[in-house]
Amino acid sequence: MITVEKLSRRYGDVTVVDDVSFEVRPGRTTGFVGANGAGKTTTMRMIMGVLSASAGEVRWKGEPITADVRRSFGYMPEERGLYPRMNLVDQLVYFARLHGLDPRDARSRVDELLEHFDLTDRGSDLLDTLSLGNQQRVQIAASLVHRPTALVLDEPFSGLDPLAVDSMVDLLQQEAADLPLLFSSHQLDLVERLCDDLVILAGGRVVAAGPVDELRDRGAVRYRVVMDG
Ligand code: ATP
Repeated sequence: MITVEKLSRRYGDVTVVDDVSFEVRPGRTTGFVGANGAGKTTTMRMIMGVLSASAGEVRWKGEPITADVRRSFGYMPEERGLYPRMNLVDQLVYFARLHGLDPRDARSRVDELLEHFDLTDRGSDLLDTLSLGNQQRVQIAASLVHRPTALVLDEPFSGLDPLAVDSMVDLLQQEAADLPLLFSSHQLDLVERLCDDLVILAGGRVVAAGPVDELRDRGAVRYRVVMDG
């Protein structure tokens, strides 16, 4: 379980993430929603340690998170970080090797993922020859290549059509069935449909968090207003 506890981030006098606390539990898909600028990316960067927190902490299984634990996570950053002029197999093997898989294991894991993502026949194609949707799929595959212990995905479905989103979520839920899975989105309807748990952020603060069903019963109108606002 990932525990985010009282995380804050300030830039000068401006607090962009303000005392944010929530949990991402194993085997649960947790949607992190909020309008543009709500602070989702900043929070995810602090979870992953690429940005330091002004206050608060992140824990993994109850202990303060370490660099090794963070390396074991699958992270899809907002700035995507793939190589447009590299073919899919080389690219994914490269990421696998960076994470310490031996050459043979890396190659078999990549073949397995390409098959699951229905990209086997594109393996020798350069990334920038793929549709944007397929590039997103490769990016998600890259976050899974080292068999991560948790997934933190920043807007993984932006640019995908609804059918493609559904199939990606199915894949993720298969590939990461027992893992804590956090993904951000500004589409509340999508997140409501696909997630077990929801964390709603507005103006850097958590305005609602918990199982989707409970939130829908308790405060649907209120949180919808917050999102729209
Ligand atoms: P989006 O969906 O647009 O990415 P978000 O919810 O991920 O939005 P963040 O990117 O975390 O939001 O940004 C939250 C706020 O922090 C924004 O108002 C943004 O302008 C501000 N911000 C982010 N990075 C910096 C920075 N380096 N310096 C100053 N302000 C920043």
